[in-house]
Amino acid sequence: MNNPRNGRPYRRLCAAQRALGLPCWLCGWEIDYQADARARESFTLDHAVPLSRGGPLLDPANARSAHRACNSSKGNRSSLKTVRTSRRW
Ligand SMILES: [Zn+2]
Repeated sequence: MNNPRNGRPYRRLCAAQRALGLPCWLCGWEIDYQADARARESFTLDHAVPLSRGGPLLDPANARSAHRACNSSKGNRSSLKTVRTSRRW
């Protein structure tokens, strides 16, 4: 259990960012804050500077609100593979 995303500071940052009620910083549309966490239009915590480029995970200044769909499509931009139906459980 070494994943910092499971930690309390991360969850607090998530909750704080969510409480701002901001629109998606990637597409500019409002986020459905009532949506199920697995829904494409639901809120996810994104980072202005990606963690892969050294962005701080827990810095509120690096936190952004994004749709789940936008967040994941950004992360997969380098590959043309569509991960739309990756629900294989
Ligand atoms: Zn969006």
